Amino acid sequence: MAKAKKRQKAREQKSSLKYYFTFLALILIFLLSPQEEYDQWGFRVSEIRQREKILNSSLNYARTIVEATQDQQALEVYNFFAANARMAIPREGGVVIHETDGQIPEHPFEVIALLEADCKQHSAWAELYSLEMVLALFNSQFRFLALRDNTTTQPLWAGLIILHEMNHARNLLDPKVEQLPQTQQGYCLEETRTHKFMARLVNKLAGRGYRELILLKVNEVALWLKEQGFQPGSTIISHTPIPYDSINFEFWNNKSFWAGVEDFIYQIGGPPLSLEDKAARQNLFWIELHFELIQRYYPGSQKDKDAEMACWLCQYFQE
Ligand SMILES: [Zn+2]
Repeated sequence: MAKAKKRQKAREQKSSLKYYFTFLALILIFLLSPQEEYDQWGFRVSEIRQREKILNSSLNYARTIVEATQDQQALEVYNFFAANARMAIPREGGVVIHETDGQIPEHPFEVIALLEADCKQHSAWAELYSLEMVLALFNSQFRFLALRDNTTTQPLWAGLIILHEMNHARNLLDPKVEQLPQTQQGYCLEETRTHKFMARLVNKLAGRGYRELILLKVNEVALWLKEQGFQPGSTIISHTPIPYDSINFEFWNNKSFWAGVEDFIYQIGGPPLSLEDKAARQNLFWIELHFELIQRYYPGSQKDKDAEMACWLCQYFQE
């Protein structure tokens, strides 16, 4: 009997020792594992830092362009962004604002630095994240500018893409800027004025050789149109869409047309890092070339020419 009691006691001692060591091990695991830090508004610090990194590098890309071009509009766009943008954090299908000082800017709009992890929160974020070429995107309906990490585009071109989207945000929200109607034509005109801004910046960054190439290629296209029996001034217009398609067909895929151009544009800001980087440069060149063609040959007032550019641009986007 006494033996059985002794065994029972020994078993109890053993099991309480087991609990003791398990408890000790849990405390040690807790103490040694990295603790998740939260800021005063309850956001995970590591998450905010990741988003800030994207935001700050985007701002740096844009600022580099402002400094290199000394362009007044670029400076205004940048300052508008810096004064009015608020960091927004995706939470499920919506966002929450990450307040830092509690001050509401005069013309607030949300900036979302997208992380891969956001894709799990809602299909809308996954869709936005998966869009190719989206280093930056301004959504005029919900008034947010989405940014993402750049690994595929040289900083100079990334800066231009970001300033393009910042310009849309500023044009929509700054009452000092002429407001365009919220129609399809208004959208096309908005893209036109933003691409004119882009063209001016690229020319300032790339130097005289770029403009010379544009003019050379405009002459080439105009000459070809004349040879085909078209008046260059009545070519790209929506009433006669055939030449527009013909120009694309004749030149866009024509290696000899791009030969000298690519050599030049792939030097600006360093060699392209990806297909998107190449496409961004080609697109800007192609758009400026068409604007120049319309500017030179399309009859009518500047307003007529701008309407024609808008019409051409929206056709081009639909391709
Ligand atoms: Zn745009």
